[in-house]
Amino acid sequence: MAKYIFVTGGVTSSLGKGIIAASLGKLLLARGYKVTIQKFDPYINVDPGTLNPYEHGECYVTDDGAETDLDLGHYERFLNVSTSQANNVTTGRIYQTVISKERRGDYLGKTVQVVPHITNEIKRRFRLLEHEGDYDIIITELGGTVGDIESLPYLEALRQIKRDLNRGDLITIHLTLIPYLKTSQELKTKPTQHSVKDLLQSGIQPDILACRTEMTISEEIKEKLALFCNVRKQDVIEAIDAETIYDVPLLLQKENLDEIVLEKLLLPKKKNPDLKNWKEFLTKFKNPKHNVRIALVGKYIELMDSYKSILESFIHAGTYNECKVNVTPVKAENLITEPENFLSGFDGILIAPGFGERGLEGKINAAKYARENNIPFFGICLGMQIAVIEFAQNVLKFAGANSTEFDTKTPNPVIDLMQEQVNLINKGGTMRLGLYKCIIKPDSMLADIYGKTEIEERHRHRYEFNNKYLPSFEEKGFMAVGKNPVSNLVEIMEYNDHPFYIGVQYHPEYKSRVEKPHPLFMAFIKAAMNHKEKNTVRINQ
Ligand code: GLN
Repeated sequence: MAKYIFVTGGVTSSLGKGIIAASLGKLLLARGYKVTIQKFDPYINVDPGTLNPYEHGECYVTDDGAETDLDLGHYERFLNVSTSQANNVTTGRIYQTVISKERRGDYLGKTVQVVPHITNEIKRRFRLLEHEGDYDIIITELGGTVGDIESLPYLEALRQIKRDLNRGDLITIHLTLIPYLKTSQELKTKPTQHSVKDLLQSGIQPDILACRTEMTISEEIKEKLALFCNVRKQDVIEAIDAETIYDVPLLLQKENLDEIVLEKLLLPKKKNPDLKNWKEFLTKFKNPKHNVRIALVGKYIELMDSYKSILESFIHAGTYNECKVNVTPVKAENLITEPENFLSGFDGILIAPGFGERGLEGKINAAKYARENNIPFFGICLGMQIAVIEFAQNVLKFAGANSTEFDTKTPNPVIDLMQEQVNLINKGGTMRLGLYKCIIKPDSMLADIYGKTEIEERHRHRYEFNNKYLPSFEEKGFMAVGKNPVSNLVEIMEYNDHPFYIGVQYHPEYKSRVEKPHPLFMAFIKAAMNHKEKNTVRINQ
């Protein structure tokens, strides 16, 4: 049987439960335990796939094609493991299951209620991963904040499962905020006391308090928190603001969190955590020898969490290139007239994934600017489609060339809806999702970058390159160098007459890890560094 760690949140949202869970997971993994992390989100959407990125940031896609919360990205990047559909559950999914069962008559005439039917379904899903892998420890992050109406069934299910299990099989870590009041120059414990009271009202006594804070928490404050929240003083853990999220595992280790957790779960400490690679990564990250400026062109830039995995991929790839990557968000709508005002001076331009027409013209201008000025260009998903539209309009001179996503009547649909999408009515969970194989042409730059010709990457799209137009593109050097072996769908476009002009239909950012940067991001940063170097030489001459 697996042991369970639940992470709840108090006082405010956005305290970084996902980072704490991922960091603790990393420490336990580094001691030799088999760990996985799951997240329960209290909203009614069945999954975050239908959510606008402005709501909760990026939608993270797993190997098996689940559209999930962005915290799963942190879990994968920290732990270097793959998660699945079972790792992210929403209230919507719980209710969907219960209501389908009710319609089937499975409840045999009983009144279906929050307790026990919804809570039973939550408990079943809490333990689902136990049957999927032989995990030693399953960390469960409960989304939302204690005290929210919508969190109540989860807390009730947690109370029940804790009662069902034996002592030492389940512990609860409550992540809370210790605010600093500038005027009185004090850290305040009262909001935490209240949030623990809220938890107690649901029948849950936290075992460990993890305290987010801007300042070091004194022994005296730890003492006070321990007394009022009914925990041992050593179980009050400081989670101080970090320079980078990747410092957090080490900061928590300093606070002995992993040891305390193992002690409470009645598990042996095994070896000291092996964090050699992690520490090396941090040293490199903090001591870059170079720097580059990358423009990230998109339409959701007011909330950069919409591009979380891309930003993290830049951190990984930059670090391994000993290069600080300064990413500047560029709003696509600003590039409609005089894009050079916003795009000059960058060493690389990335066009981000996205949906819908807003900012289309600006994105096309960005692709054109990068192509004509030999600036390293990387288009992801919609970014690749934009590069194709731009090439069709400005190089091939195809009148009105466009994607049918933006112009259903275009005379030249160079990007078109995939055949299997045509008759779909439901929007949720119906895109081309998850891992697909791609065969790369051996003589391409991409084959060099990956070091192989067969890859698997994750997808999330409805539209595709229209193969009818491929000969015209290839004649002018814009080559489809990667294709799906079964559907023949174009996965990678590479422009020959340019130092680095690459578009991919898939999302490489979902597979970049702290200890395993993605080769495409690595190559893009390298190209940006080369571009910068050449430009500097030119300016100095
Ligand atoms: N909107 C485009 C499509 O559906 C691109 C999607 C994306 O960038 N993830 O194909």
